[in-house]
Amino acid sequence: MSSGEVIDVVVDGERILHAGAGTARGVDGAEDGSGKLLLPAFVDGHVHLDKVLVRDELREHDGTLAGAIGAIHERKARYTVDDVRSRARSVIEASVQLGTTRLRSHVDVDTIGGLTPLEGVLAAGAECADIAEVLTVAFPQEGLLRDPGAYQLMEAAIEAGADVVGGMPHWEVDEASQREHVGLCFDLAERFDRDLDMHVDETDDGGVRTLEMVADEALRRSYIGRVVAGHVCSLAAAPQDYADRVIDKCLRAGISIAANPVTNLVLQGRQDRGLVRRGVTRVRELRAAGVNVLFGQDCIKDGFYPFGRGSMLEVALISAHATHLTSRSDLAFALRAVTEAPAQAWRLSDYGLKQGARADLQLLPVPTWEEALRLQPMPEKVWFKGRLVAESSVVSNLHRSN
Ligand SMILES: [Zn+2]
Repeated sequence: MSSGEVIDVVVDGERILHAGAGTARGVDGAEDGSGKLLLPAFVDGHVHLDKVLVRDELREHDGTLAGAIGAIHERKARYTVDDVRSRARSVIEASVQLGTTRLRSHVDVDTIGGLTPLEGVLAAGAECADIAEVLTVAFPQEGLLRDPGAYQLMEAAIEAGADVVGGMPHWEVDEASQREHVGLCFDLAERFDRDLDMHVDETDDGGVRTLEMVADEALRRSYIGRVVAGHVCSLAAAPQDYADRVIDKCLRAGISIAANPVTNLVLQGRQDRGLVRRGVTRVRELRAAGVNVLFGQDCIKDGFYPFGRGSMLEVALISAHATHLTSRSDLAFALRAVTEAPAQAWRLSDYGLKQGARADLQLLPVPTWEEALRLQPMPEKVWFKGRLVAESSVVSNLHRSN
């Protein structure tokens, strides 16, 4: 645990039977993790597995969100289920080796790729069901009104197995269309009894305010605690009175915010000169208000972001830089943002180092969470549903002359 507390954890099958002070040492099959850090496995609450690893095949663009979306069009039109499956699978496997056993993947649903991205990610998730749990979000990347036919595809995606309803209201051409987009997403979610996880206001333009539309709709329909809003960059550029008002609405609606600083640090602020905006939402104010904030990987070597390797430890470190997290309580918040916060956003009741939780665990070769963040080690061991699914060891020798 991050606190430095010494505990024993007893696992029975897929579940944690006991976590706390105890006497498990000496028991048959017991493992001694003394001096090491045992954490629940990470949860990546926001990733796009359909797009991962396509970067080398894309044309260069201006580095903006619109530039990236345009560059991916041509590649997306050529996706095959097998192509998406194999790229997604390699990232799921890498993520597990780096301590993540639960991933929630947005998958593009539009008239360019149809249901191919979803089918590819579902196939990868099924192939990796022995090492990880992958949930899918049907994500209308090209808009719903801007892309006629996308809404019908969204319905088909839910029927084909997508777990969560996505959205991208700020991508529509005007405010009326944005509002209609939000309403359509909630209609779909209510009809199929699904949670919502929408891309919201991923722009530097403080005048774009679909977060308030989403919060108002959640409150109006009593969809409390069932909505995640991702990115929410424009909130940082909006006036303080708007930010205060909408943060309060998010809190009342139980909306979780998936801040994705890793990608937005490079994607936003492209037009700024001099003082360049960070493109990151108001994490400090959201946290102070008590809103559930998580950090996601978002992108891995795609049109939006050239880096990423499925390491939530890396995501936490970069996000800590982007959002001024340095004190001990700040760093505990960063840990929460890649563990308990996404678990809360998913409404998981069986997550964590506690009795009855699913035994998704990782053992890191450092004594504390602060050292894990600083040194970025691979976990020595990762367990999924109580089964050891990844092991790693690093050998590095220093050859001195004396
Ligand atoms: Zn995203």
